[in-house]
Amino acid sequence: MNKQHIINRFIKYVTIDTESDPNNPAFPSTEKQWDLAKVLEKELVEIGMEDVDLDENCYLMATLPSNLDYEVPTIGFVAHIDTSPDFTGANVKPQIHENYDGKDIILNKEQNIVLSPDYFDDLLQYKGQTIITTDGTTLLGADDKAGVTEIVSAMEYLIQHPEIKHGKIRVCFPPDEEVGKGAHMFDVEKFGAKWAYTMDGSQIGELEYENFNAAGAKITINGKIVHPGYAKGKMINSMTIASELINAMPANEVPEKTTGYEGFFHLHHMEGKVEQTTLQYIIRDHDMELFKNRKQAMLDLVSVMNTKLGKDLIEIEIKDQYYNMKEKVTPVMHIVDIAEEVMNDMGIKPLIKPIRGGTDGSQLSYKGLPCPNIFAGGHNFHGRYEYVPVESILKATEVIVGIAEKVSVKFK
Ligand SMILES: [Zn+2]
Repeated sequence: MNKQHIINRFIKYVTIDTESDPNNPAFPSTEKQWDLAKVLEKELVEIGMEDVDLDENCYLMATLPSNLDYEVPTIGFVAHIDTSPDFTGANVKPQIHENYDGKDIILNKEQNIVLSPDYFDDLLQYKGQTIITTDGTTLLGADDKAGVTEIVSAMEYLIQHPEIKHGKIRVCFPPDEEVGKGAHMFDVEKFGAKWAYTMDGSQIGELEYENFNAAGAKITINGKIVHPGYAKGKMINSMTIASELINAMPANEVPEKTTGYEGFFHLHHMEGKVEQTTLQYIIRDHDMELFKNRKQAMLDLVSVMNTKLGKDLIEIEIKDQYYNMKEKVTPVMHIVDIAEEVMNDMGIKPLIKPIRGGTDGSQLSYKGLPCPNIFAGGHNFHGRYEYVPVESILKATEVIVGIAEKVSVKFK
């Protein structure tokens, strides 16, 4: 693998702004995502991929045909092209720090923005490596342009090295993952892979096939506004009821006090006046039973409070968002084992842990495409401290090549 070639490719992708927009119902949610999709479309043709197809929803797919004389399952690799709306992705100016010395990295002298291993101690495992950072004013977009770089580079490598045997490989670059819609218009049938991997994890070694079951709850509390001077026995302050409700929720089952497999309720938005207050919660749990219990607990609380109030002032609406892919991946566990074996062969320690969130892969798994998640190499996603060691991008690229090769051996 040519390191400089891969750096150039990554830089090209991150300097194209592809920020998605959670408030735009259009698909894709921002027009600028087409800019990268079109660049990639051209590049996939140039490196020799077949069936290169950019559809009307901005999903780019392509095929690397098998070079075997026997049948093996078609596998896929997926990386999203958009970046998070949490932080600006316009005018990304990547900084390359060769042979990292383990000290503070000055991202921006004028604004005194420093990436320090005192705070981000993960940095220390990359001493001596080439680290790409932001200039402190934008995110980097390694999430998930590192993944895109790895997939394109692995395909290019396989095309240039026909001695490496592999079955048919499909690749897809969807838009709008960061706004939860990356799987929505994904044509799984057209993709035609038996299973796939999203290259969308963080540090080197990550391999994930468990994520949260997720729901959103919107609670609306209706009060009654009366002149405060004449309010006795008449005014109903919806904000007072809201705070009572918030206090009745389990205080320790919140994101800031939970880890690993512990689920939570997270109040992420509230807006109130005397007349009406709305609370928005997300509900998360890896375990389906506990997830159902959590939703029921919220419904019960609302009903108890309404009874106490003597009328139905509180309304609640709960909507499921996505489910734990474990249920779909466990029956085909060999797809995780293959990735794990490849990492072990390469001397990479597999870090298998539950995702405290979701991925495109969780929705894809429920659409019939089992889809574990593999590291893409970056750290500190969605903000100015995002960085990626080039060596991790190279390793992830090798993992893709290794998986392609392993499938050709395993299914002979
Ligand atoms: Zn991502």
